[in-house]
Amino acid sequence: MKKQFVNNQDSFTAICGYCGTSKRVPITERVLCMDVCCITCGQITPVQLCYRKHFRKQTDIEGVLIYNTHHWPIKITNMSIRGYQLVFPKPHMPNIGNGDICVLKYQLPNKNKTQISEEVEIKTCDHKNGLCGVLVIDLQPYSKIQKAKGFWLMP
Ligand SMILES: [Zn+2]
Repeated sequence: MKKQFVNNQDSFTAICGYCGTSKRVPITERVLCMDVCCITCGQITPVQLCYRKHFRKQTDIEGVLIYNTHHWPIKITNMSIRGYQLVFPKPHMPNIGNGDICVLKYQLPNKNKTQISEEVEIKTCDHKNGLCGVLVIDLQPYSKIQKAKGFWLMP
């Protein structure tokens, strides 16, 4: 079976094993194998899909961090599938600390503008510089949210 790397976030280029015609195939679900039907000769080529490993991505996303009834505007400066680096606008960071459970809400800058709402735990706090590292609690790798994040995070 032909191995195909998925670099793009939502499609890959398939080449027919019989006549060599290439076509762009959209990926709507994170499948590992796919039968690609040729647009020219109609033959089917089975393809194995390999996804690049997720990594930490530099971001500039506005969001909100919710703790009890408090809503704080924050900026996400980098993220991975599991964690976020948050920056609180000056003058200072609210009185939260390691182990506090918050809800992080933001809109992913992908094609579908996916609304993300995740429970996160505060892991590191730098009150002086208003920096905060958080980890996603109870990560559901196959949820709609995580799939959207996974695709968007792929290099
Ligand atoms: Zn063909």
